[in-house]
Amino acid sequence: MVRFFDLHCDTLKVSFHQKLDDIYEIPGSMLDIRRMGEAGSLAQCFAIFMPPKWTEPVTDSEYLAHCFQVFKTAMERHRDIIAPALSGGSIERNKQAGRMSAFLSFEDGRPIDGKLENLDAYYDMGIRLITLTWNGENCFGFPNSKDPVLMQKGLKPFGKGAVRRMNELGIVLDVSHLSDGGFYDVAEISKKPFMASHSNCRALSPHQRNLTDDMIRTLAEKGGVAGLNFAPAFLNADTACRDSTAALISAHARRMIDVGGVECAALGSDFDGISGNLEISGVEKMRLLFDRFHHDGLSDDVIEKIAWKNALRVFKDITGDTPLDLGEYH
Ligand SMILES: [Zn+2]
Repeated sequence: MVRFFDLHCDTLKVSFHQKLDDIYEIPGSMLDIRRMGEAGSLAQCFAIFMPPKWTEPVTDSEYLAHCFQVFKTAMERHRDIIAPALSGGSIERNKQAGRMSAFLSFEDGRPIDGKLENLDAYYDMGIRLITLTWNGENCFGFPNSKDPVLMQKGLKPFGKGAVRRMNELGIVLDVSHLSDGGFYDVAEISKKPFMASHSNCRALSPHQRNLTDDMIRTLAEKGGVAGLNFAPAFLNADTACRDSTAALISAHARRMIDVGGVECAALGSDFDGISGNLEISGVEKMRLLFDRFHHDGLSDDVIEKIAWKNALRVFKDITGDTPLDLGEYH
């Protein structure tokens, strides 16, 4: 069985909407801990996705409290099979102990609220990756956009300082959703590798959420990775097409490798954040993707790099290769 490290899912959002206190079994979801275990997951980034606007009567802080609590509860209840990871080294230790690893991330840096001390506070609460923006402007900068003026806008002064602080703390910088201008600012300022946790190749699918060849090369030169996203709009040449297949994902993987080298491709499924006619419709179907990689001529070694080794390398580069344990997890 091929193990895998998925850099992005929105499953915590599902737990909020379904008012769940655990993520072990979630009927109707694309991912839960039980199915991760059966499918051979090695590690999963659980994003706390910040909706741009609340349709229900809830505040950001109530929502954040739910997400942190449900994650903590799940990790405590199912510690025999999964444990929170606070560093790349934690993944290896958890693996040796027969456990999967779970990282917490923010999708949209809005909770940071323009204050560097909030980066430190959320680091202490276990956040190890921040997708700097979602699809709107925030304290870090500007989102990807069809508007070329907006797309060229770079990071705000706070965003530039935050990049430096995230480097110091050991929080992974994630440029998926960021403007192209912001991408190049991160590439210039960051002293460490960075990621596009769930973005594909713009040369194959012209959606503005995807990376140009030059961006893939830049990301690879910095030692970073891009996580292959399973969303139809980011896979097809016609971004209105609703089909997502293992063959399309494999084509993007091979393009990434052709452009950036074998070290820069990873997985960022976007499970529970996407819809359409999905061949990989949940974590239990991951094997179909690895079968397709084989079918398309990728070697076992290359498949392992895409599946987990590249992502683990970057987490170790940024968050450290010393295992940090639960005692340090507040
Ligand atoms: Zn996203």
